[in-house]
Amino acid sequence: GEIRIGLGSCCVASGSKEIQEEVEHVVNESGLRVSLKHVGCVGMCHQVPLVEVVPNEGEAKLYAKVKPEDVKNIVESHFQAPGLFTRLKNKLLHTVEEIQTDRNWDGIERYEISMREKPVASFLGKQIPIATEYRGIINPLDINEYLSRGGFTAVEKVLNKMTPEEVIREVKDSGIRGRGGAGFPSGLKWELVKKQEDPEKYIICNGDEGDPGAFMDRMLLESYPYRVIEGMIIAAYATGINQGYFYIRAEYPLAVKRIREALTICKAKNYLGKNILGSGFDLDLQIYEGAGAFVCGEESALIASIEGNRGFPRMRPPFPAESGLWGKPTLVNNTETLAQISYILRERAEGFSKIGSGKSTGTKVFALAGKVARGGLIEVPMGITIKQVIEEIGGGIANGRQFKAVQIGGPSGGCIPAEHSNTPIDFESLGEMGAMMGSGGLVVLDDTDCMVDIARYFLSFTQEESCGKCTFCRVGTKRMLDILDGIVSGKGKKGDIEELEHLAEWTKKGSLCGLGKTAPNPVLSTLKHFRDEYEAHINGTC
Ligand code: SF4
Repeated sequence: GEIRIGLGSCCVASGSKEIQEEVEHVVNESGLRVSLKHVGCVGMCHQVPLVEVVPNEGEAKLYAKVKPEDVKNIVESHFQAPGLFTRLKNKLLHTVEEIQTDRNWDGIERYEISMREKPVASFLGKQIPIATEYRGIINPLDINEYLSRGGFTAVEKVLNKMTPEEVIREVKDSGIRGRGGAGFPSGLKWELVKKQEDPEKYIICNGDEGDPGAFMDRMLLESYPYRVIEGMIIAAYATGINQGYFYIRAEYPLAVKRIREALTICKAKNYLGKNILGSGFDLDLQIYEGAGAFVCGEESALIASIEGNRGFPRMRPPFPAESGLWGKPTLVNNTETLAQISYILRERAEGFSKIGSGKSTGTKVFALAGKVARGGLIEVPMGITIKQVIEEIGGGIANGRQFKAVQIGGPSGGCIPAEHSNTPIDFESLGEMGAMMGSGGLVVLDDTDCMVDIARYFLSFTQEESCGKCTFCRVGTKRMLDILDGIVSGKGKKGDIEELEHLAEWTKKGSLCGLGKTAPNPVLSTLKHFRDEYEAHINGTC
């Protein structure tokens, strides 16, 4: 038998390390022949610490919100005294049960999990794990297990049977667009880098995630290091690159540690280094730890940071694809984009492009947070509606409150009110609503939330993170924040709203990089959908 425990940062913060120690203690003391396996993030952050028991025979069981004192009963109920299970069922209030694994939905493996005591729609049922494939099942650093589940087959196929042009064609045909926020077609970016004749080029995995409430990159790097490395190898081969970096913020120590260990293992197994798998292709990857500035997620600032300079964005063009790190052609891809690449090459472009809607193909990973009953890390097909995410995955609004709006795309994004909850989550539909995909923050708000305060919160974040290079971003956001502070504290006055709109327009126009260009979005979208709340504050009627 096997006992699986999630040891991602969120799980550890909720006590899974103590659970792991208790399981080790119980198993050692009882002399049971049970192996303890560390797994990555399952995404069910609202249920951690999670313990999954996989007996030699019979169904696997998943226990949620486990406490150290529950461990002995859990272990004994499966591996020693079956009669105890009945007692256990009565004791654990939040037990969930894995019912089945099937391949009926779009041919993709998924997991049906239902609450035993309070039947609700499945948290995982509407999800499609591509970047998060085998979540909660594989040990993040066990390369043999990764290989046994199809890991690195895409790399073997690409290096031995495909030309770089064929790889780029496949990526273009899949329709995948950058998951970092802007949604630029990844295949086109690769093509542009490949065209550069300079033999010295670089690849960078952008793992500099800093949006409030977002933890997609962290989870992917911690739980699926080989998958991201696989994407890097394929991208580097397709574009003719032999060296690169993982840019990971230093506040993600577990992600840095796992990637570091995975790189060492990959080098030892000849998945990295000289003459990978005898193909003649060389790739050396290193880690660069960022100091935690939000603006360093912008690719030219990120590059400046690796070069040892202050993380200032610069004018583009030239784009990094032409002149990036050390003035050389550089491919910068988001962590999530890279985590999806091996799937595309393994399952062909059609396997990916049949998921999603319109020009937004495949899946998107979101950090679902806020006033939702079941928050966590989710991977959903593009085109799923906001309502489906909140109700069917998130289990609705917590504490019986009313759904008011969702802030999507973090501080660069915007809010979408409840009456538009049928909006599909894809690049175009969100843009039309004044929001944006962003990197994947999804904060659910209920009827107790003040939308002016929400806008002020996100603007205060971008204002603080502005690098200060552009006057409009540096001063415009500060002036907007002063006005919002005044409105929220009851000192708002006539003309404030018009002044906010005016400043927002000029801050968008006069800013150099995405941070400044999108900083006014939360204010503009709340003004568009909840203008009455601003007016109520100013008129003193709320
Ligand atoms: Fe810096 Fe803001 Fe200008 Fe971007 S827009 S370069 S963050 S001042």
